[in-house]
Amino acid sequence: MLTREDFLREIPKTDLHVHLDGSLRLSTLIDLAKQNNVTLPSYTEEGMRELVFKDKYESLDEYLKGFFYTGLVMNSVESLERISYEFAIDNFQEGVRYVEVRFAPQLHINDSLSFEDVVKSIDCGMRKAAAEINKNIPENEPEFRYGLIVCAMRYCNANFSSYYKKFFDMHKYSSECECISLASLELAKAAVKLRDESDIPIVGFDIAGSEWGHPADDHKQSYDYVHKHFLHKTVHAGEASGPESIFSAVTSCHADRIGHGLQLFREDKITDLSIKDKKSYISGLVNFLADSRITVEVCLTSNLQTMPELKDIKEHSVLKMLDKRLSVSICTDNRLVSNTSVCKELKLLTDNFSVSEKMFKDIVVYGFKRSFFHGSYSEKREYVRKCIAYYESIVQKYTNGK
Ligand SMILES: [Zn+2]
Repeated sequence: MLTREDFLREIPKTDLHVHLDGSLRLSTLIDLAKQNNVTLPSYTEEGMRELVFKDKYESLDEYLKGFFYTGLVMNSVESLERISYEFAIDNFQEGVRYVEVRFAPQLHINDSLSFEDVVKSIDCGMRKAAAEINKNIPENEPEFRYGLIVCAMRYCNANFSSYYKKFFDMHKYSSECECISLASLELAKAAVKLRDESDIPIVGFDIAGSEWGHPADDHKQSYDYVHKHFLHKTVHAGEASGPESIFSAVTSCHADRIGHGLQLFREDKITDLSIKDKKSYISGLVNFLADSRITVEVCLTSNLQTMPELKDIKEHSVLKMLDKRLSVSICTDNRLVSNTSVCKELKLLTDNFSVSEKMFKDIVVYGFKRSFFHGSYSEKREYVRKCIAYYESIVQKYTNGK
Protein backbone atom coordinates (compact mmCIF):
# COMPACT_ATOMS: atom_id res chain seq x y z
CA MET A 1 0.00 0.00 0.00
CA LEU A 2 1.18 3.49 -0.84
CA THR A 3 1.47 5.69 2.24
CA ARG A 4 1.59 9.44 2.79
CA GLU A 5 5.28 9.04 3.66
CA ASP A 6 5.90 7.36 0.30
CA PHE A 7 4.13 10.23 -1.43
CA LEU A 8 6.19 12.84 0.40
CA ARG A 9 9.39 11.04 -0.51
CA GLU A 10 8.51 10.62 -4.17
CA ILE A 11 7.41 14.14 -5.04
CA PRO A 12 10.14 16.44 -6.30
CA LYS A 13 11.13 18.82 -3.51
CA THR A 14 13.50 21.67 -2.72
CA ASP A 15 15.43 22.81 0.29
CA LEU A 16 16.19 26.52 0.03
CA HIS A 17 17.42 27.01 3.57
CA VAL A 18 19.91 24.48 4.84
CA HIS A 19 23.30 25.01 6.48
CA LEU A 20 26.07 22.63 5.52
CA ASP A 21 27.73 22.82 8.94
CA GLY A 22 24.46 21.75 10.56
CA SER A 23 23.81 18.93 8.12
CA LEU A 24 26.71 16.48 8.29
CA ARG A 25 26.13 12.76 8.56
CA LEU A 26 26.74 11.96 12.20
CA SER A 27 28.85 8.95 11.26
CA THR A 28 31.03 11.24 9.14
CA LEU A 29 31.49 13.76 11.94
CA ILE A 30 32.69 10.95 14.21
CA ASP A 31 34.92 9.51 11.52
CA LEU A 32 36.51 12.87 10.66
CA ALA A 33 36.94 13.70 14.34
CA LYS A 34 38.87 10.44 14.84
CA GLN A 35 41.03 11.13 11.78
CA ASN A 36 41.83 14.68 12.91
CA ASN A 37 42.23 13.95 16.62
CA VAL A 38 39.28 16.16 17.46
CA THR A 39 37.85 15.55 20.91
CA LEU A 40 34.14 14.71 20.94
CA PRO A 41 32.06 14.03 24.06
CA SER A 42 31.28 10.60 22.56
CA TYR A 43 32.42 8.57 19.56
CA THR A 44 29.18 6.69 19.04
CA GLU A 45 26.08 7.99 17.23
CA GLU A 46 23.88 7.15 20.23
CA GLY A 47 26.23 8.98 22.57
CA MET A 48 26.36 12.07 20.36
CA ARG A 49 22.55 12.07 20.03
CA GLU A 50 22.24 11.90 23.78
CA LEU A 51 24.81 14.57 24.55
CA VAL A 52 24.84 16.99 21.61
CA PHE A 53 22.36 16.44 18.77
CA LYS A 54 19.07 16.16 20.61
CA ASP A 55 15.44 16.29 19.55
CA LYS A 56 14.74 19.06 22.04
CA TYR A 57 17.14 21.67 23.35
CA GLU A 58 17.05 23.61 26.61
CA SER A 59 18.35 26.81 25.05
CA LEU A 60 19.80 28.36 21.93
CA ASP A 61 23.27 27.89 23.45
CA GLU A 62 22.69 24.17 23.69
CA TYR A 63 21.44 24.09 20.09
CA LEU A 64 24.55 25.93 18.90
CA LYS A 65 26.93 23.53 20.66
CA GLY A 66 26.62 21.08 17.77
CA PHE A 67 28.08 23.61 15.35
CA PHE A 68 31.19 23.87 17.49
CA TYR A 69 31.98 20.21 16.81
CA THR A 70 31.09 20.21 13.13
CA GLY A 71 33.19 23.35 12.65
CA LEU A 72 36.25 21.54 14.01
CA VAL A 73 36.22 18.96 11.22
CA MET A 74 35.30 21.27 8.32
CA ASN A 75 38.82 22.52 7.87
CA SER A 76 40.30 20.80 4.84
CA VAL A 77 39.58 20.33 1.13
CA GLU A 78 39.03 16.61 1.65
CA SER A 79 36.56 16.89 4.51
CA LEU A 80 34.55 19.68 2.86
CA GLU A 81 34.32 17.66 -0.35
CA ARG A 82 33.20 14.56 1.49
CA ILE A 83 30.65 16.40 3.63
CA SER A 84 29.06 18.19 0.68
CA TYR A 85 29.06 15.07 -1.51
CA GLU A 86 27.22 13.10 1.19
CA PHE A 87 24.91 16.05 1.81
CA ALA A 88 23.80 16.04 -1.84
CA ILE A 89 23.32 12.26 -1.87
CA ASP A 90 21.24 12.39 1.35
CA ASN A 91 19.05 15.11 -0.13
CA PHE A 92 18.44 13.23 -3.34
CA GLN A 93 17.66 10.04 -1.49
CA GLU A 94 14.66 11.69 0.13
CA GLY A 95 13.50 13.14 -3.19
CA VAL A 96 15.01 16.63 -3.02
CA ARG A 97 15.68 17.63 -6.62
CA TYR A 98 16.91 21.15 -6.00
CA VAL A 99 18.93 22.30 -3.01
CA GLU A 100 20.65 25.53 -2.10
CA VAL A 101 23.30 24.79 0.45
CA ARG A 102 24.56 27.67 2.57
CA PHE A 103 27.72 28.11 4.56
CA ALA A 104 29.91 30.86 6.02
CA PRO A 105 33.27 30.57 4.20
CA GLN A 106 35.04 32.87 6.65
CA LEU A 107 34.45 30.35 9.45
CA HIS A 108 36.37 27.67 7.56
CA ILE A 109 39.29 29.67 6.16
CA ASN A 110 42.63 28.85 7.77
CA ASP A 111 46.35 29.04 6.87
CA SER A 112 46.03 26.22 4.38
CA LEU A 113 42.48 26.87 3.18
CA SER A 114 41.56 30.05 1.30
CA PHE A 115 38.09 31.41 0.51
CA GLU A 116 38.39 29.92 -2.96
CA ASP A 117 39.45 26.54 -1.55
CA VAL A 118 36.41 26.43 0.75
CA VAL A 119 33.91 27.25 -1.98
CA LYS A 120 35.57 25.08 -4.62
CA SER A 121 35.72 22.06 -2.29
CA ILE A 122 32.05 22.33 -1.45
CA ASP A 123 31.17 22.80 -5.11
CA CYS A 124 33.36 19.85 -6.03
CA GLY A 125 31.50 17.51 -3.64
CA MET A 126 28.10 18.74 -4.79
CA ARG A 127 29.10 18.53 -8.46
CA LYS A 128 30.39 14.99 -8.14
CA ALA A 129 27.18 13.86 -6.44
CA ALA A 130 24.99 15.65 -9.00
CA ALA A 131 26.85 14.01 -11.90
CA GLU A 132 26.42 10.54 -10.38
CA ILE A 133 22.76 11.13 -9.61
CA ASN A 134 21.87 12.65 -12.97
CA LYS A 135 23.48 9.79 -14.91
CA ASN A 136 20.65 7.57 -13.72
CA ILE A 137 17.69 9.96 -13.87
CA PRO A 138 15.03 8.94 -16.42
CA GLU A 139 14.20 11.39 -19.21
CA ASN A 140 10.81 12.41 -17.78
CA GLU A 141 12.18 13.28 -14.36
CA PRO A 142 13.79 16.56 -13.31
CA GLU A 143 17.54 16.50 -12.78
CA PHE A 144 19.14 17.09 -9.41
CA ARG A 145 20.44 20.66 -9.31
CA TYR A 146 22.05 22.83 -6.68
CA GLY A 147 23.23 26.33 -5.84
CA LEU A 148 25.58 27.72 -3.20
CA ILE A 149 24.68 30.55 -0.83
CA VAL A 150 27.48 32.26 1.09
CA CYS A 151 26.73 33.64 4.54
CA ALA A 152 28.36 36.56 6.29
CA MET A 153 27.97 36.65 10.06
CA ARG A 154 25.53 39.11 11.61
CA TYR A 155 27.80 39.04 14.60
CA CYS A 156 31.37 37.80 14.82
CA ASN A 157 34.53 38.52 16.75
CA ALA A 158 38.17 37.46 16.74
CA ASN A 159 37.34 34.13 18.40
CA PHE A 160 35.10 32.91 15.58
CA SER A 161 37.90 31.52 13.39
CA SER A 162 41.52 32.10 12.49
CA TYR A 163 40.31 34.24 9.56
CA TYR A 164 38.30 36.52 11.86
CA LYS A 165 41.21 36.64 14.32
CA LYS A 166 43.47 38.01 11.58
CA PHE A 167 40.74 40.28 10.26
CA PHE A 168 40.05 41.90 13.62
CA ASP A 169 43.78 42.18 14.38
CA MET A 170 44.36 43.96 11.07
CA HIS A 171 41.52 46.41 11.69
CA LYS A 172 42.30 47.44 15.22
CA TYR A 173 41.35 51.07 14.58
CA SER A 174 37.82 50.08 13.53
CA SER A 175 35.05 49.29 16.00
CA GLU A 176 33.71 45.76 16.31
CA CYS A 177 30.63 46.80 14.39
CA GLU A 178 32.74 48.32 11.59
CA CYS A 179 34.83 45.14 11.40
CA ILE A 180 31.67 43.03 11.04
CA SER A 181 30.47 45.25 8.16
CA LEU A 182 33.88 45.15 6.50
CA ALA A 183 34.18 41.37 6.74
CA SER A 184 30.71 41.09 5.25
CA LEU A 185 31.63 43.37 2.34
CA GLU A 186 34.84 41.45 1.76
CA LEU A 187 32.80 38.24 1.47
CA ALA A 188 30.36 39.89 -0.94
CA LYS A 189 33.22 40.95 -3.21
CA ALA A 190 34.91 37.56 -3.01
CA ALA A 191 31.67 35.77 -3.85
CA VAL A 192 30.90 37.91 -6.90
CA LYS A 193 34.48 37.62 -8.18
CA LEU A 194 34.62 33.84 -7.85
CA ARG A 195 31.18 33.45 -9.41
CA ASP A 196 32.23 35.58 -12.39
CA GLU A 197 35.54 33.81 -12.90
CA SER A 198 34.29 30.24 -12.60
CA ASP A 199 31.33 28.04 -13.37
CA ILE A 200 30.60 27.55 -9.68
CA PRO A 201 26.89 28.19 -9.03
CA ILE A 202 27.26 30.80 -6.29
CA VAL A 203 23.69 32.02 -6.39
CA GLY A 204 23.02 33.90 -3.18
CA PHE A 205 24.23 35.97 -0.25
CA ASP A 206 22.94 35.70 3.31
CA ILE A 207 23.65 36.88 6.83
CA ALA A 208 23.44 34.26 9.57
CA GLY A 209 24.08 34.11 13.30
CA SER A 210 22.97 36.15 16.23
CA GLU A 211 20.15 38.47 15.20
CA TRP A 212 19.25 40.20 18.44
CA GLY A 213 21.21 43.45 18.75
CA HIS A 214 22.92 42.98 15.39
CA PRO A 215 20.81 44.75 12.77
CA ALA A 216 20.85 43.90 9.08
CA ASP A 217 21.57 47.57 8.40
CA ASP A 218 25.21 46.88 9.36
CA HIS A 219 25.37 44.81 6.18
CA LYS A 220 23.77 47.35 3.89
CA GLN A 221 26.98 47.95 1.95
CA SER A 222 27.54 44.28 1.25
CA TYR A 223 23.94 43.75 0.18
CA ASP A 224 24.15 46.83 -2.05
CA TYR A 225 27.23 45.32 -3.61
CA VAL A 226 25.72 41.91 -4.36
CA HIS A 227 22.48 43.56 -5.48
CA LYS A 228 24.38 45.59 -8.06
CA HIS A 229 26.07 42.42 -9.26
CA PHE A 230 22.84 40.42 -9.61
CA LEU A 231 23.57 37.96 -6.88
CA HIS A 232 20.36 36.92 -5.13
CA LYS A 233 19.71 37.93 -1.54
CA THR A 234 18.26 36.12 1.42
CA VAL A 235 18.41 37.34 5.00
CA HIS A 236 17.96 35.47 8.28
CA ALA A 237 15.39 37.76 9.84
CA GLY A 238 12.47 37.62 12.24
CA GLU A 239 13.88 34.53 13.95
CA ALA A 240 14.84 36.08 17.29
CA SER A 241 13.89 39.69 16.51
CA GLY A 242 10.55 41.08 15.42
CA PRO A 243 8.94 42.64 12.34
CA GLU A 244 11.44 45.54 12.18
CA SER A 245 14.19 43.06 11.45
CA ILE A 246 12.22 41.77 8.46
CA PHE A 247 11.55 45.37 7.43
CA SER A 248 15.33 46.06 7.40
CA ALA A 249 15.92 42.90 5.39
CA VAL A 250 13.62 44.03 2.61
CA THR A 251 14.46 47.76 2.70
CA SER A 252 18.21 47.82 3.50
CA CYS A 253 19.19 44.45 2.03
CA HIS A 254 16.81 44.08 -0.96
CA ALA A 255 15.93 40.57 0.29
CA ASP A 256 14.40 38.20 -2.28
CA ARG A 257 13.69 35.76 0.50
CA ILE A 258 13.51 35.81 4.29
CA GLY A 259 15.05 33.09 6.42
CA HIS A 260 12.52 32.10 9.13
CA GLY A 261 10.33 35.22 9.43
CA LEU A 262 8.83 33.50 12.46
CA GLN A 263 8.13 36.73 14.40
CA LEU A 264 6.50 38.56 11.49
CA PHE A 265 3.18 39.09 13.26
CA ARG A 266 4.53 39.94 16.73
CA GLU A 267 3.44 43.45 17.70
CA ASP A 268 5.07 43.00 21.10
CA LYS A 269 8.46 42.54 19.44
CA ILE A 270 8.40 46.00 17.86
CA THR A 271 10.89 48.14 19.76
CA ASP A 272 11.01 51.34 17.69
CA LEU A 273 9.02 53.87 19.70
CA SER A 274 8.31 55.97 16.63
CA ILE A 275 6.08 53.18 15.28
CA LYS A 276 2.80 54.21 16.86
CA ASP A 277 0.35 52.07 14.91
CA LYS A 278 1.89 48.62 15.17
CA LYS A 279 -1.04 46.86 13.52
CA SER A 280 -0.84 48.86 10.33
CA TYR A 281 2.98 48.62 10.31
CA ILE A 282 2.72 44.83 10.32
CA SER A 283 -0.10 44.67 7.82
CA GLY A 284 1.84 47.01 5.48
CA LEU A 285 4.89 44.78 5.80
CA VAL A 286 2.91 41.57 5.27
CA ASN A 287 1.20 42.96 2.19
CA PHE A 288 4.52 44.15 0.81
CA LEU A 289 6.05 40.68 1.27
CA ALA A 290 3.03 38.99 -0.29
CA ASP A 291 2.77 41.34 -3.24
CA SER A 292 6.52 41.24 -3.97
CA ARG A 293 6.48 37.44 -3.67
CA ILE A 294 9.29 37.61 -1.14
CA THR A 295 9.43 34.00 -0.04
CA VAL A 296 9.63 33.01 3.61
CA GLU A 297 11.92 30.04 4.23
CA VAL A 298 10.06 28.34 7.07
CA CYS A 299 11.95 25.90 9.30
CA LEU A 300 9.45 24.40 11.75
CA THR A 301 11.58 21.98 13.80
CA SER A 302 14.44 24.42 14.10
CA ASN A 303 12.10 27.16 15.37
CA LEU A 304 10.63 24.82 17.97
CA GLN A 305 14.12 23.93 19.13
CA THR A 306 15.59 27.42 19.35
CA MET A 307 12.56 29.38 20.54
CA PRO A 308 11.69 28.22 24.04
CA GLU A 309 8.57 30.43 24.09
CA LEU A 310 7.17 28.48 21.14
CA LYS A 311 5.74 25.60 23.16
CA ASP A 312 3.40 24.09 20.59
CA ILE A 313 3.92 23.86 16.85
CA LYS A 314 0.30 24.92 16.38
CA GLU A 315 1.31 28.38 17.60
CA HIS A 316 3.81 28.71 14.74
CA SER A 317 3.12 31.69 12.47
CA VAL A 318 3.23 29.58 9.28
CA LEU A 319 -0.55 29.27 9.37
CA LYS A 320 -0.95 33.06 9.42
CA MET A 321 1.59 33.36 6.62
CA LEU A 322 -0.41 30.98 4.47
CA ASP A 323 -3.60 32.71 5.45
CA LYS A 324 -2.16 36.02 4.24
CA ARG A 325 -1.16 34.33 0.98
CA LEU A 326 2.56 34.75 1.52
CA SER A 327 4.90 32.69 -0.60
CA VAL A 328 6.23 30.05 1.79
CA SER A 329 8.80 27.32 1.30
CA ILE A 330 9.37 24.58 3.87
CA CYS A 331 13.04 24.03 4.70
CA THR A 332 15.16 22.07 7.17
CA ASP A 333 17.72 24.64 8.41
CA ASN A 334 19.97 21.88 9.78
CA ARG A 335 19.53 18.23 8.94
CA LEU A 336 21.79 16.95 11.71
CA VAL A 337 21.40 19.57 14.43
CA SER A 338 17.62 19.61 14.05
CA ASN A 339 17.53 15.87 13.34
CA THR A 340 15.24 16.41 10.38
CA SER A 341 14.70 16.10 6.63
CA VAL A 342 12.49 17.85 4.07
CA CYS A 343 10.03 14.93 4.22
CA LYS A 344 9.82 15.21 8.01
CA GLU A 345 9.23 18.97 7.79
CA LEU A 346 6.48 18.58 5.19
CA LYS A 347 4.83 15.91 7.30
CA LEU A 348 5.05 18.14 10.35
CA LEU A 349 3.32 20.86 8.37
CA THR A 350 0.45 18.74 7.12
CA ASP A 351 0.03 16.86 10.42
CA ASN A 352 -0.43 20.07 12.36
CA PHE A 353 -2.05 22.57 10.04
CA SER A 354 -4.97 22.28 7.74
CA VAL A 355 -3.29 22.65 4.37
CA SER A 356 -5.31 21.75 1.29
CA GLU A 357 -3.72 19.63 -1.45
CA LYS A 358 -3.77 22.69 -3.71
CA MET A 359 -1.98 24.80 -1.12
CA PHE A 360 0.48 22.01 -0.41
CA LYS A 361 1.35 21.80 -4.08
CA ASP A 362 1.81 25.60 -4.18
CA ILE A 363 4.25 25.41 -1.27
CA VAL A 364 6.32 22.70 -2.94
CA VAL A 365 6.26 24.48 -6.30
CA TYR A 366 7.25 27.84 -4.75
CA GLY A 367 10.47 26.17 -3.71
CA PHE A 368 11.36 25.69 -7.36
CA LYS A 369 9.90 28.98 -8.57
CA ARG A 370 11.56 31.15 -5.94
CA SER A 371 14.89 29.35 -6.10
CA PHE A 372 18.04 31.26 -7.05
CA PHE A 373 18.40 28.95 -10.05
CA HIS A 374 21.79 29.01 -11.74
CA GLY A 375 21.02 29.50 -15.40
CA SER A 376 18.90 31.67 -17.65
CA TYR A 377 15.29 32.48 -16.88
CA SER A 378 14.15 30.32 -19.81
CA GLU A 379 16.13 27.39 -18.45
CA LYS A 380 14.62 27.96 -15.03
CA ARG A 381 11.08 27.99 -16.44
CA GLU A 382 11.71 24.80 -18.32
CA TYR A 383 13.11 23.14 -15.19
CA VAL A 384 10.23 24.33 -13.02
CA ARG A 385 7.72 23.05 -15.58
CA LYS A 386 9.39 19.68 -15.59
CA CYS A 387 9.23 19.57 -11.79
CA ILE A 388 5.53 20.49 -11.80
CA ALA A 389 4.73 17.86 -14.44
CA TYR A 390 6.62 15.26 -12.45
CA TYR A 391 4.83 16.31 -9.25
CA GLU A 392 1.49 15.89 -11.02
CA SER A 393 2.45 12.45 -12.30
CA ILE A 394 3.21 11.37 -8.71
CA VAL A 395 -0.15 12.75 -7.54
CA GLN A 396 -1.78 10.77 -10.33
CA LYS A 397 -0.02 7.59 -9.30
CA TYR A 398 -1.15 7.99 -5.70
CA THR A 399 -4.70 8.91 -6.68
CA ASN A 400 -4.97 5.77 -8.78
CA GLY A 401 -3.24 3.68 -6.14
CA LYS A 402 -5.75 4.48 -3.42
ZN1 LIG B 1 19.35 29.21 9.11
